[in-house]
Amino acid sequence: MSASRNVVLLGATGSIGENALRILRAHPDKLRLVGASAHRNGDALLAIAKEFDLQRICLTDEDARHEAANKLPNGLKLLGGTEGLDELASTETADVVLVAVVGTAGLSPTLAALSSGKDVALANKEALVTGGKFVVETAEANGACILPTDSEHNAVFQCLGGGPAKQVEKIILTASGGPFLDWSSDRMAKVSPEEALQHPNWSMGPKITVDSATMANKGLEIIEARWLFDMSPEQIEVVIHPQSIVHSLVQFVDGSLIAQLSPPSMTFAIQHALLFPERAPGVDDTVSFTDPLSLDFQPPDVERFPCLRLAREALAEGGVSPATFNAANEVAVAAFLENRIGFPSIAHTIEHSLESMKNREPINLEDLLAADAEARRIASTHAETLTLS
Ligand code: NAD
Ligand code: MG
Repeated sequence: MSASRNVVLLGATGSIGENALRILRAHPDKLRLVGASAHRNGDALLAIAKEFDLQRICLTDEDARHEAANKLPNGLKLLGGTEGLDELASTETADVVLVAVVGTAGLSPTLAALSSGKDVALANKEALVTGGKFVVETAEANGACILPTDSEHNAVFQCLGGGPAKQVEKIILTASGGPFLDWSSDRMAKVSPEEALQHPNWSMGPKITVDSATMANKGLEIIEARWLFDMSPEQIEVVIHPQSIVHSLVQFVDGSLIAQLSPPSMTFAIQHALLFPERAPGVDDTVSFTDPLSLDFQPPDVERFPCLRLAREALAEGGVSPATFNAANEVAVAAFLENRIGFPSIAHTIEHSLESMKNREPINLEDLLAADAEARRIASTHAETLTLS
């Protein structure tokens, strides 16, 4: 890569966003930030705009945007709402858009970026789970690349090495198992949001941390892998690996397994995606073998972690079922974090929503978004019946 690459960072104030900023600071000769967004934290976004000398930013929350509008320095344009995010994602000078917003809010700017021919480094997994077909088709139609940035998918991308897909037997996504890996279902029934937010290895935003505790995260990642690598569901396995050092593996038809290893920091995946196909020194310590290091693997327990089973069922059903799985999960995780429902109610809400939604093949994006809204209504109504007393 000769010239520097212009980057738009959506979700700059989050956990992925902060890690991406560390990479941008480390490689000013290779990467240049040209736009950034946040939802509510206007002051943090303005500080980023100042540090990187930005000309365009976006605050998606209306109140936050009004408040920040009074503090704008000369020459800085403030966009707002979903339309603003889409506009930022299609910034003319941008080469790559890192989508690091959380939830289904990532779908629209991902499509906007791909439609305008930008490569997308996709950390947000909900966009692919909800609208995988539309995202992949939009990328193909516009000659744009999706650079897998979720650590497991980035690992698979690295292991594949661009070789022919027919030589791949299966891909194996690793999962830490989260904070409740060895807990009984009875014990998990009583966990608080504070306990679920204590991830043993990773420091991440609250939604994905709860997703890791229920293992809905790995369910979402199975569906994400289906779209990124065009694999059948049977070709996507999950293995528990509590140390989170092997980020995933690819098994080839001859039986060889190739794995990608690095410490549990997202900077490795983010930097790989942003610089691809170039490599440069990383910003975090590497795996060290000077002390003994054990790597353990075990099969997942779908009885205690029903979200894994539900994600597979949604994927097998196809149509709007993966979007329903995702929407119900988003609703239920928000209710759990607000102490309105218990931990097992997250899986119950997903299961109920999948059973209640009439499945169909979405005819277009509008139809898909209508299904997403309907699934949210079903999930919210059900979550209310599960309210903690
Ligand atoms: P986070 O909650 O820390 O940050 C989310 C970012 O999105 C913030 O900048 C926030 O301002 C913005 N945001 C929130 N709601 C929004 C909305 N409605 N519209 C637009 N922007 C909004 O989340 P995170 O942990 O950084 O995760 C971001 C995405 O990356 C998620 O989809 C997650 O699943 C995925 N991911 C995260 C990690 C990780 O280590 N954190 C790893 C792999 C994948
Ligand atoms: Mg992941």
